[in-house]
Amino acid sequence: MRYAIIADIHANLAAFSEVLHDIAHRGGVDELWCLGDIVGYGPDPHECIDLLRQYNHVCVAGNHDLASIGKIDASTFNTDAIAACQWTARQLSPEDAKYIRTLPMTASRGDFTLVHGSPRDHVWEYILSTGIAMENLAFFQSPFCLIGHTHVPMFFKCEGDSCAFNQFSPNIGLVLGKNRLIINPGGVGQPRDSDPRASYAIYDSDINLVKLYRVPYDIEATQARMMGAGLPIRLIGRLGHGV
Ligand code: ZN
Repeated sequence: MRYAIIADIHANLAAFSEVLHDIAHRGGVDELWCLGDIVGYGPDPHECIDLLRQYNHVCVAGNHDLASIGKIDASTFNTDAIAACQWTARQLSPEDAKYIRTLPMTASRGDFTLVHGSPRDHVWEYILSTGIAMENLAFFQSPFCLIGHTHVPMFFKCEGDSCAFNQFSPNIGLVLGKNRLIINPGGVGQPRDSDPRASYAIYDSDINLVKLYRVPYDIEATQARMMGAGLPIRLIGRLGHGV
């Protein structure tokens, strides 16, 4: 069986559509595993929810999803994120809001635990260091954990209580073995590793392999739609740089 691991779509329909084309081009998958933040920042929140729901998928809630329906307090967001969140809330149909309300905080698929932030704090915690990765090992039981939230593709390979940091690049075929792993597939709709291409991964359970893919998309089309929607200029600019 094959599964696509996608995170942080962030209402970027152009990026999400290209990723779905890329998945189809590579032979398709049995299910999409979505790690949250379907909406927030980008210009097409309704369209992205709608498109995701056309696929066989599981999705956990991200902080931007929850903030867009008022389920968590967005006051800790920066000014641009608050403005985007308020704009997003106005774009969602009652059906979209209902869908977001039903998203679980964590999901389990075979040997994988799926969360947005971290196993310890599903909503807010960023796993960017080995120290934080190690502290989180006690908070999930499965061998492998999939996370989003940082928009940076990376994985932590752990043995006992200690973890090692690894950049996750497309030339690495990550073979699942006896080591526990915390894996981040990077962001579909707002990459932050200085590579503006959309990022996602495919897990093939027949060969026990997780592979990362980077997909170019029409960044200027998304930026033009954001401009038209009056979204903050800094959010528009950063897409071009992948930061
Ligand atoms: Zn995010």
